Amino acid sequence: MSDITKLIRTIPNYPKDGIMFRDITTLLKDPKGFQTTINMLVEKYKNTDIDYIAGIEARGFILGAALAYALNKGFIPVRKKGKLPGKTITQSYDLEYGSDTIEIHEDSFASGSKILLIDDLIATGGTAIGAITLIEKAGGTIVETAFVVDLPELGGAKKIQNLGHKVFCLCS
Ligand code: 5GP
Repeated sequence: MSDITKLIRTIPNYPKDGIMFRDITTLLKDPKGFQTTINMLVEKYKNTDIDYIAGIEARGFILGAALAYALNKGFIPVRKKGKLPGKTITQSYDLEYGSDTIEIHEDSFASGSKILLIDDLIATGGTAIGAITLIEKAGGTIVETAFVVDLPELGGAKKIQNLGHKVFCLCS
């Protein structure tokens, strides 16, 4: 397995003082790094029974769309509030400071559809748990959640596992 962590850079004090932001744009712009990232996810999920890949705005779109294409699955965007044109189902979730709202089209998938949820990074897990709640509210079944980066000290992956869902991360 190639070491993609070397291609992820850390930007100190972004978006706030004291935060070490893990920036995956340096991974995405590296052809081999991007391809390796998607290939590792394809290897992991090529034999899994999945109907759709759902990606969380915005970096989850980049990874999720590439993975959906490679696995020949449909892609569902989990968007920030106010961006989708059709009727939506919404879910609010807590962030470290404040809250946010995400939504999907209410007719995104048939009830009982098997969904793989993907985002670039899991920190506190607030965003991913919001997306899991939203997808379940819409009648979907979460097959697994996948991330490129886990920040284990923030406990998000544990929280998702404690809810009974599987978590797969390429690096931490
Ligand atoms: P959480 O809700 O788990 O605390 O934060 C994860 C969400 O915030 C993800 O959607 C992720 O894209 C974004 N995020 C938080 N911290 C970072 C970071 O250091 N790097 C990147 N690339 N995204 C982050």
